[in-house]
Amino acid sequence: MLYLVEHFYSIQGEGKYTGTPSLFFRFGGCNMRCEGFGCVEIAPDGSEVLGCDTVYAVNREHFSKNWILIKNATELLNILNLYELPRHVDIVLTGGEPLIYANDEIFVEFLTALHKSGHQVTFETNGSMTIDFEKFPIYKKFIFALSVKLSNSDEPLSKRVKGDIIYSIGSNAKEAFFKFSIDADSIDLGLEEEISSIIMHSPKTKVYCMPLGGSRAEVEANTEPLIEFCKAKGYNFSDRLHIRIWDQNKGV
Ligand code: SF4
Repeated sequence: MLYLVEHFYSIQGEGKYTGTPSLFFRFGGCNMRCEGFGCVEIAPDGSEVLGCDTVYAVNREHFSKNWILIKNATELLNILNLYELPRHVDIVLTGGEPLIYANDEIFVEFLTALHKSGHQVTFETNGSMTIDFEKFPIYKKFIFALSVKLSNSDEPLSKRVKGDIIYSIGSNAKEAFFKFSIDADSIDLGLEEEISSIIMHSPKTKVYCMPLGGSRAEVEANTEPLIEFCKAKGYNFSDRLHIRIWDQNKGV
């Protein structure tokens, strides 16, 4: 069962391709919860749900009634016709965790069609889902933004850091880069060691660090300490432009 939460045309707000006009597809479901990020969203049933800044695309129990069940690849491809898009516009597949659908027939057909039409496709992934690059070589054509979760997510280490998967993506994909979400409080707590223990699985892959937060105020509070951390360690700072501009609004 393939679920889409929303689609929107905007600019990429994070990472290497910040500022690039992109059509986003947000898929529903994730293999993690990341309650450590402390974002709270009110579900349609009125309950307060704790998780990450896209908890509405993660938590099936409380939000899946609002998700769209996709029955064939054409339904996804037709979404491109709803917008006035530049030719070959970038496509960003996000979530939740879009790669929980990595083996799904409809998902692979959709990816294949996008590639044939000349679109650059980027996955925003937590880097913990196995991709079978031999069975589905189409994945070698795409870009992977590896947002591997740190201990501030409160997910167990064995679940969030899978060295073999990071290595496989880093060595098979057309392009990959790391993208870490960091809060000011984590910076002195062995963060450098934690990041090093992740990036060692794909040492040539560029690193971007972005301020944690689901709101403009949280992002702003974490920005300056993170810039100082990036300056000291030689990592790239990435803003979270969409949150800074549109705050907590969705679909932008
Ligand atoms: S892995 Fe990403 S989408 Fe999934 S719960 Fe964590 S932050 Fe949210």
